Amino acid sequence: ARLVVAVDGPSGSGKSSVSREIARRLGAVYLDTGAMYRAVAWHCQHQGVLDDPEAVVAAVQDIDLVLSVDPDLERVVVGTEDITEAIREPGISAVVSVVATNRAVRELLVARQRAEIESHRRIVAEGRDITTVVAPDADARILLTASAEARTARRSAQMGGTVEAGALAEQVSGRDAKDSTVVDFMTPADGVGLVDSTELDLPATIEAMLAEVER
Ligand code: C5P
Repeated sequence: ARLVVAVDGPSGSGKSSVSREIARRLGAVYLDTGAMYRAVAWHCQHQGVLDDPEAVVAAVQDIDLVLSVDPDLERVVVGTEDITEAIREPGISAVVSVVATNRAVRELLVARQRAEIESHRRIVAEGRDITTVVAPDADARILLTASAEARTARRSAQMGGTVEAGALAEQVSGRDAKDSTVVDFMTPADGVGLVDSTELDLPATIEAMLAEVER
């Protein structure tokens, strides 16, 4: 049967690894919308247009972006350049809000995300505004949260513990604060199920998410 699962949540909630795994379990493809915003930020930075909102919009209109939706293959390509690794760099995390807070950019990316969702029979789409804006009619809508402490600890582990804890907490909460000015991903909208992973390990979080999908 056709299945659309929408997952939102803040950075460090475990959203990506959890969504990827539930896609595998459900025989679905996986759409990482954060990777789209990151790719657009990379592209604009590359073109040197980040400080010009109109040029940013033009760059997004023209972008040749290929994003893998295979949950077992993480791959982001712009033009001829594989930027899978580059978009995870702190330098991109630091500037991604410039494109994510641009209304026209969001409209373009939301349209693209809706088309992508339409084109697959079974899909898990993940981001900040999927349950509310991109796919409010999804079969399952879930908000995955965790305490600020748990999210910082996970980010730190992901980055190999190389960043000082206070600096990292500031980076994470700074990005969340900027993101929150555009979309509210901290409180579940009407009809959206809440999974709090603060006290859950990865397998338990996956089980809780699958239970929400079944509900
Ligand atoms: O999920 P990830 O942390 O990779 O997302 C990177 C950035 O992309 C977020 O900080 C946010 O600014 C933006 N984003 C968004 N809407 C989404 C997904 C991501 O604004 N649906």
